[in-house]
Amino acid sequence: MTVGVLAVQGDVLEHARALELSGARVRPVRRPEELDHLDGLVIPGGESTTIDRLCRLFDLHEPIRDLIADGLPVYGSCAGMIQLADEILDGHRDQQTFGGIDMTVRRNAFGRQVDSFEVDLRIEGIADPDRPFRTVFIRAPRVERAGAGVEVLARVDDAVVAVRQGHLLATSFHPEVTDDHRVHELFVRMCREARGAPAQRVTSVADPADEGSRTA
Ligand code: GLN
Repeated sequence: MTVGVLAVQGDVLEHARALELSGARVRPVRRPEELDHLDGLVIPGGESTTIDRLCRLFDLHEPIRDLIADGLPVYGSCAGMIQLADEILDGHRDQQTFGGIDMTVRRNAFGRQVDSFEVDLRIEGIADPDRPFRTVFIRAPRVERAGAGVEVLARVDDAVVAVRQGHLLATSFHPEVTDDHRVHELFVRMCREARGAPAQRVTSVADPADEGSRTA
């Protein structure tokens, strides 16, 4: 079980540690070839405009977008959530997302006075959901529209802050900075389940024979 962590910017090490403690092998991803044969990918928190710019610069944007469409399990936290949204509000003028989740996400949605905060939440889908999960929000986005196929996993008051759509998971908060790994465990479980599915996921153009095994 190998899970990639997009390592162009953001809190890569924290995700890597949480994934390892959840039973996955971790591969930092900085180049398109490093996306080959992954069982899942994490897009960390950081600065979504920077992550977007660097991914386009390093030729990672299209392969990641295609892998998402092909069914690769992907988890995005905070900036990663923004990058998984089909539509964003308050993005930079030329900001592009990978998309995949039928939702509209507003960047920096909790206002200046609460740039950062922590709160105990119930998160659906994780182990022992009745035990509150300490969530950390840092200049966090929120989901302002979730499509019919999107499952809401957690809210702060009325704001949607965790969602799942099939093989895609996104949280406004940063579970990687706490010692509670139940969100990462959920994602590793999603990767394991998807691994049993028939789809082959190969992005490298190094071997053209691989192209034939790619699913649309
Ligand atoms: N505000 C950042 C952005 O728009 C996200 C913050 C974070 O990932 N902690 O990308």
